[in-house]
Amino acid sequence: MGDLIAVPDALAAVLGRAATLPVERVELSRAAGRPLAEPVRSPVDLPPFPSSSMDGYAVRASNAPGVLRVVGTVAAGRPERRALRDGEAIGISTGGVVPEGADAVVPVERVIVRLDEVAVESTVSLGDNIRRAGGDVRAGATVLEAGAQLTPARLAALAACGIERVGVRRRPRVAVLATGSELRPPGEALAAGQIYESNGIMLAALLEESGALVERPAAAEDSEDVLERALLRALAADVVVTSGGVSVGPHDLVRRVEARLGVEEVFWGVAMRPGKPIAFGVRGRTLVFGLPGNPVSALVGCLLFVRPAVLALQGHPHPAPPFRTGTLARDVTPRPERDDYVRARIDWAAAGPLLEPTTGQESHMIVKTTAADAIVHVPRGSDVVPAGARVDFLALE
Ligand code: AMP
Ligand code: MG
Repeated sequence: MGDLIAVPDALAAVLGRAATLPVERVELSRAAGRPLAEPVRSPVDLPPFPSSSMDGYAVRASNAPGVLRVVGTVAAGRPERRALRDGEAIGISTGGVVPEGADAVVPVERVIVRLDEVAVESTVSLGDNIRRAGGDVRAGATVLEAGAQLTPARLAALAACGIERVGVRRRPRVAVLATGSELRPPGEALAAGQIYESNGIMLAALLEESGALVERPAAAEDSEDVLERALLRALAADVVVTSGGVSVGPHDLVRRVEARLGVEEVFWGVAMRPGKPIAFGVRGRTLVFGLPGNPVSALVGCLLFVRPAVLALQGHPHPAPPFRTGTLARDVTPRPERDDYVRARIDWAAAGPLLEPTTGQESHMIVKTTAADAIVHVPRGSDVVPAGARVDFLALE
């Protein structure tokens, strides 16, 4: 491992190679959480007609106060064809079409109902309790811009406009391949020297949450032949994420085998801790990430580089990790040569997030990591970062 690449340069190198995938048109029910590939305009006015926002009586504002004759009723979905004349009221439900000739709705709580009359005792203003046609959006106006992520409320907005399908980027196909002869799947008995494979489930879950379609072949042992077969298959995906076997040991074969399969390495070795041996390359349009085997290193590497790539492939406008700012709860000693990503608990009770580094910061300690809610970025340097300092953190959700 020669010169280490700085984290921001490594991220830029990754994002620069993550070209957006082709657009597909999908039903709204398949679009949740995905960014729109193109802007969407409303084909209709919303509301499509002047409608009542209350249960009450459609009236002429100029007739109030006064006693009005009730000449009909309007329910939602059942308009009244008869126009309203002076001295008349028409009963109306929320969402009902305001009849021709009416210019206000008086809520039922504000009238006295007698047989076929209502007494309106206060004054009424023009337009009271009427939702204007097109008041939410006008036909032809933009509902959402390209890149907008389809949150539940935005999906409802599209449905409300009568939109059935939207253009989104195809979901990236991601192959997650754990490597290491010591790995066994949970559920099996461990022989001497073996451990349970835990990176696969973590990386798959993280990337599925970000919109990827993940395949997870069985872990590959540290043999060139086995790795070559597994990687060849994995390279059919848009993104390959391996864990393990990218460091400097005699059994770290991943990069060598990938080179043989035509993967062009972009970088190997990042100025960060954990995660120094992270490798990144490309084969054609396939992005190839080699994460270290230590689970915390794999986690941090995935958060900083792989997830952003998966988001960028789908056209997210802001694929970089969403760091926020908080306050350090105690002194932290930085590393001189590598940016540190310290696991911390977030105390939300304080005025803004207070970040308390958790005990057990070694990169194999995935169980200790469960106490953490965030990773805190401690830039490389020589001076202690004191308690109370403002630091950037990435939430672990
Ligand atoms: P490596 O990067 O292959 O040198 O592995 C570093 C450490 O991570 C070793 O202790 C491995 O046993 C462990 N390790 C590698 N892959 C996994 C995995 N998929 N799940 C859990 N631990 C792993
Ligand atoms: Mg290994």
